[in-house]
Amino acid sequence: MNALKSSRQRTAILEYLANTKEHPTADTIYENLRKTFPNISLGTVYRNLNLLAEMHDIIKITTESGGVRFDYDTSPHYHVVCSSCGKVEDLKISEKAIKPFLEKVNQSYDGTIESHSILFYGKCKTCSDKDHK
Ligand code: ZN
Ligand code: MN
Repeated sequence: MNALKSSRQRTAILEYLANTKEHPTADTIYENLRKTFPNISLGTVYRNLNLLAEMHDIIKITTESGGVRFDYDTSPHYHVVCSSCGKVEDLKISEKAIKPFLEKVNQSYDGTIESHSILFYGKCKTCSDKDHK
């Protein structure tokens, strides 16, 4: 595959992610990109997603119930994974609210904390409502 074609595909992946709040899986991205690039392979989508994540252009979220998800929003924020349907949503909590906790973590450790990943598990609104019917 030539370089121009592959960079166009990478741009299309980024554009798709930029326009969704869904934190899609590689499969979902692949299904949507196929409409524009009928010959694109799932492997190409995976390769590009991992490359973009390594370059910190996107975030890769590995979940227990929802598989591996991708996020265009690289700003510090936290996620909730629905243990029923696997949906991944942004938590509406400010960086300021979490800061005291992170400071405590730093103070409690003699070494150097370089990064962290916190994932919350629960049930989304839709699945919770279904349960209570
Ligand atoms: Zn759900
Ligand atoms: Mn997010």
